[in-house]
Amino acid sequence: MTELARLTWTDVAATAAGAVLLVPVGATEQHGPHLPLGTDTAIAEVLARRAAEEVEQEPADGGRLPTVLVAPAIPVSSSGEHEDFPGTLSIGQEATELLLVELVRSASRHFAAVVLVSCHGGNHEPVTRAVARLRAEGRQVTAWSPRWHGDAHAGSTETSVVAALDPSLVATERAVAGETASLRALLPRLRSEGVRAVSPSGVLGDPTDACAAVGRELLDAAMADLAAHVRALPCPRDGAGRGTGAPGRAAPGGTGGDAPGRVTGRREMEP
Ligand SMILES: [Zn+2]
Repeated sequence: MTELARLTWTDVAATAAGAVLLVPVGATEQHGPHLPLGTDTAIAEVLARRAAEEVEQEPADGGRLPTVLVAPAIPVSSSGEHEDFPGTLSIGQEATELLLVELVRSASRHFAAVVLVSCHGGNHEPVTRAVARLRAEGRQVTAWSPRWHGDAHAGSTETSVVAALDPSLVATERAVAGETASLRALLPRLRSEGVRAVSPSGVLGDPTDACAAVGRELLDAAMADLAAHVRALPCPRDGAGRGTGAPGRAAPGGTGGDAPGRVTGRREMEP
């Protein structure tokens, strides 16, 4: 059992001091006319749950990480660039950063380490800032994002992944190519005018060749990468991650290969 919300406090009490808590960080934002608003949240949840199961089945160093739990997903975050589309909900970058800071402060009271499983590219900056603040306080926290290449938003890559999660979530008949110019070329206008000015459908890419088999490969690779990230965390039993470091100092015991404040892995290519 890896889902925190299904456990009692007494279940958690026995193992929390040596446990890693994965926090899926999603979004509620438009993903074109063919993918649901909760796409990023669904992806973050599945990756966190599967990685937790994987690590529990095969811990590093013969059982060094005995417990990995998955927190309830954060379903709303920073999606201002998509707000011109009905259904998008955003609390902005500042509130997202503060939410993550307070959540990890709270989790650090009992859990050895926290990993933010961030599956919405628009959260890159608030997640990076939150991790930097928390590490400066001595908290054992890292962030991880899937390293998916491919088109930017609701295109072939993301549609393939959602098709692999659950084909019924993809309205295939409505999947049509949107703006296919590179994100780099589009970024100035995306930043100043939002996604709708660049792509009336909200799609940045071409979902017409999306395929569940490709999505399964992407999910498997991302899950394995996240599991490796969790296994590489400093051993919780060493007390490396109790969040008890002096304020203003990094937690002892290393950083799991992750420089303070840096989000591991490439950000998702969506804006
Ligand atoms: Zn997305």
